[in-house]
Amino acid sequence: MLDRKKQDWKALAADLEIEGRAFINGRYEDAMSGQTRETVSPGDGQRLADAANCGIEDADRAVEIARGAFESGVWSAMAPADRKMVLVRWAELIEDNADEIALLESLDVGKPISDTTGVDVPSAVRTIRWSGEAIDKVYDQISPAPADCLALVQRLPLGVVAAIVPWNFPLSTTAWKLAPSLATGNSVILKPASNTPLSALRIAGLAAEAGLPDGVLQVLPGPGGSLGRHLALHEDIDGLTFTGSTEVGKQLMQYSGESNLKRTFLELGGKSPNIVFADSNLEKAATFAAIAVFYNGGQTCTAGTRLIVEDSIKEKFVEMVVAKSQDWMPGDPLDPSTAMGPMIDAAQLKTVADYVDIGREEGASLMFGGHQVLADSGGCYHEPTIFCGVNNDMRIAREEIFGPVMSVIGFKDAEEAVAIANDSIYGLAGAVWSNDINTAHRVAAAVRVGTMGINNYFGGDVTVPFGGFKQSGNGRDKSMHAFDDYTELKTTWIEFD
Ligand code: NAP
Repeated sequence: MLDRKKQDWKALAADLEIEGRAFINGRYEDAMSGQTRETVSPGDGQRLADAANCGIEDADRAVEIARGAFESGVWSAMAPADRKMVLVRWAELIEDNADEIALLESLDVGKPISDTTGVDVPSAVRTIRWSGEAIDKVYDQISPAPADCLALVQRLPLGVVAAIVPWNFPLSTTAWKLAPSLATGNSVILKPASNTPLSALRIAGLAAEAGLPDGVLQVLPGPGGSLGRHLALHEDIDGLTFTGSTEVGKQLMQYSGESNLKRTFLELGGKSPNIVFADSNLEKAATFAAIAVFYNGGQTCTAGTRLIVEDSIKEKFVEMVVAKSQDWMPGDPLDPSTAMGPMIDAAQLKTVADYVDIGREEGASLMFGGHQVLADSGGCYHEPTIFCGVNNDMRIAREEIFGPVMSVIGFKDAEEAVAIANDSIYGLAGAVWSNDINTAHRVAAAVRVGTMGINNYFGGDVTVPFGGFKQSGNGRDKSMHAFDDYTELKTTWIEFD
């Protein structure tokens, strides 16, 4: 697949049949209102499909169907070993259709085809397969109760779960939510981001083909402010799992409190520190400093946007990172040599441009980039951008930009590096680079984030939990810990006569 050339992908794209209808009760259907919303490709601004624009009436129907499926036990009471077979088969079907799904994701999100074929699709497949394979190896507990008692501690599915996901990693985030929620026996309603519903809709059909019973999974494209809000306030939804902005995450907690106290788990924003000591492998650290910010155009919650560098090497190291940044000039997502695609839309492009202005006004020095490029393409492309002379009080060091903008901050010793790293409302991810095992471990332990790399950035796979400290959220995606978010613990206390 990777030896396909740009023109091959373009030809495949021209022939692609795109499904934009909602997925309800095992079938594709139009929104009840008949309304649609055009999805366009951020790479060239061209129309891709008309997706269903679901409203609250669709949500109510989907909840009723999901509740019926849950109560029937068709999935919730199925033996874990049988649920496993369905999930593993689903992963295989996604793998069988990998090129088509990767292409769909590239077109819908503007992600480079090398990323969607190499990362997004394989990650979704692995997540679904791993969760399926794990679920029939999970034992419940018997408590150390007195001899004339037997106390069972069981994990039971929550019931009906709503999952609301963002546009930056639509396929992998969808898999992170659906795999553990379905594996544990829930019925699920997924609301993709309005502008990127296509891969979730496609894989929902494959779930049915794999044997997922009707009504267990619904996918409803539609607006967050109405459809998403309605799901979050719904009295008959037991759990809500969300990935998105901290601002919306806070609203969802309130909606839970205003309605039925549904279990609400949030994966939110970040402003992650990437700390580089003078004694590290500087060549590797510079390569990853660029990857940490420019991968996915910086539209990554864990992006290492604060590059915190030891003062003694700062000048030299920034030169090295600037040199690496040349490799990240944006290009056509369907060109396999493209490392960075466009911003998701014109609004996001403007946000990035505004922050470049803010950085300049705050007195930071622009070392590289700073401009929109490829405007003639019809897409929303921005250069990789590096600011030096940043202090941690500046807005470009504190606020999530969600674009390819790096802020370089100096430090004199480990204590100061940790203080800068922790001086943030966020606590999602970070990394430290040092060849001194003591420095590396001491700093990694002191930085308050959910995932910390030592001498790597973006390390990790489905076997480890992912989530945030502080305002980066609560709950965890991936690993067996994800099962906790989708289950209640039930005690049964039995006494013998
Ligand atoms: P967003 O604006 O919070 O939207 C995320 C999802 O929530 C979308 O489906 C959106 O629907 C929906 N939504 C919006 N308002 C809502 C409301 N009032 N009630 C219910 N749902 C609502 O975030 P985004 O701009 O799409 O994504 C970027 C953010 O996600 C960044 O902050 C990033 O850090 C975060 N993120 C976090 C992680 C993580 O794992 N921690 C991973 C990826 C991204 P519409 O599409 O219709 O607006």
